[in-house]
Amino acid sequence: MSGAPVGRFAPTPSGRMHLGNVFAALIAWLSVRSRNGSLVLRMEDLDTQRTSEAFAQTLREDLLWLGLDWDKETEPQSRRNQVYQQYFDKLDALELLYPCYCTRSQLHSVNAPHLADGTYVYPGTCRNLTEAQKAAFGRAPAWRVKVPDRNWTVEDHIQGTYQENLATDCGDFVVRRADGVYVYQLAVTVDDGEAGVTEVVRGMDLLSSAPRQMYLQELFGFPHPEYAHVPLLLAPDGRRLSKRDQDMDLSALRQKMKPEQLIGILGYTAGLLERNVPISAQELAAEFTWKNVKKDGICLDLSAF
Ligand SMILES: [Zn+2]
Repeated sequence: MSGAPVGRFAPTPSGRMHLGNVFAALIAWLSVRSRNGSLVLRMEDLDTQRTSEAFAQTLREDLLWLGLDWDKETEPQSRRNQVYQQYFDKLDALELLYPCYCTRSQLHSVNAPHLADGTYVYPGTCRNLTEAQKAAFGRAPAWRVKVPDRNWTVEDHIQGTYQENLATDCGDFVVRRADGVYVYQLAVTVDDGEAGVTEVVRGMDLLSSAPRQMYLQELFGFPHPEYAHVPLLLAPDGRRLSKRDQDMDLSALRQKMKPEQLIGILGYTAGLLERNVPISAQELAAEFTWKNVKKDGICLDLSAF
């Protein structure tokens, strides 16, 4: 890949950033800024019930407080339905889409094979419905894209090689829900592709999404970005830190410490610093290298806060 890297922040504006979000944002920023690249900010607000512009504004302020700036903010996902529709139509023109009428309980039945992350493998139940069968359901379907029996390899900067065969490990997946909302996988692929993103850095929980997105990138004609999936942050008891840990969100942390202290703790925890010392994001960029970023779940010493 030639030219300066283009990274992205893609937060969901549904509350204050918690430490896990901050950590992923920091690594995304460091990787790109250490090589004079640029960053795109995008609000992932497909779930309009849970998200708001007020939260989006707080997210921007929190990122800037941390010293994590960006070069351009692209349109939020909630306003891009017509764009997603065009890409959905492309899939339709390729004859890769079909309607799925399965109910949630059918999909989650005990007989369905499940992957390690809890997602089920769709067995293709609705692939060959007749027109009469479709009409008999009498309701709006979800739409699935057919996947090929082929291996996808993610060469992840942090996690190493991750492989998945979409046919056996995932099955045909939904790109538009029955209520007409385009799903995350399609929206992210379109948004990253159109913004020219060359590097996707995000939480480890999204690693298994990468092969689906690589498949859609290929169908839409976008180059594959590089990937880095950052480990989850864990409390000392091994529990994953989440939005429920409100003493670890930025509204609480901003009252307790300066941004340099928080960046120092995260840089040290990540493996980028040998000691826990206050440091700015700008200064930490000089220390950044993928090979030092820890791969497995990272236990945070909460007494540092
Ligand atoms: Zn179905």
